[in-house]
Amino acid sequence: MPDLATISAFLGSIKTATEIAKAIKGAELSLEKAEIKLKMAELISALADVKIQAAEIQEVILEKDKEIAELKNLIQTKSQLTRENNLYYELSDTESRNPLCPHCWEVNQSIIHLINTLTSYLPQFDSLTCLMCNNSYKRLKIP
Ligand SMILES: [Zn+2]
Repeated sequence: MPDLATISAFLGSIKTATEIAKAIKGAELSLEKAEIKLKMAELISALADVKIQAAEIQEVILEKDKEIAELKNLIQTKSQLTRENNLYYELSDTESRNPLCPHCWEVNQSIIHLINTLTSYLPQFDSLTCLMCNNSYKRLKIP
């Protein structure tokens, strides 16, 4: 993945191309035709490097934009959850109180509702299972 070294190389290539162009302009009359052709070939090569490096930098910017969008979405989702007794609930879910899997949320930031499996041997507890990660949780039954 391109990084600050790519940006440094990009700026270096621009400087090289600029210096070659200045050399051609400043010595137009004194340079032989063959030397001008050679300098022009160097300039074209330097500009090709600039084009490749600019494309790499553009790719990094697009990846960063995507990452920022994902993080903004995660912050938005996180603000809509509340944690009670080790289980997460959506703030908007005030009636059904359907808990979310804490493992899936904390590890993968996935919103997975737990299923009441009705297998608890303790009558005062619900037995809740995540169908994604198969973790089970106990929750004191809501009266
Ligand atoms: Zn889970």
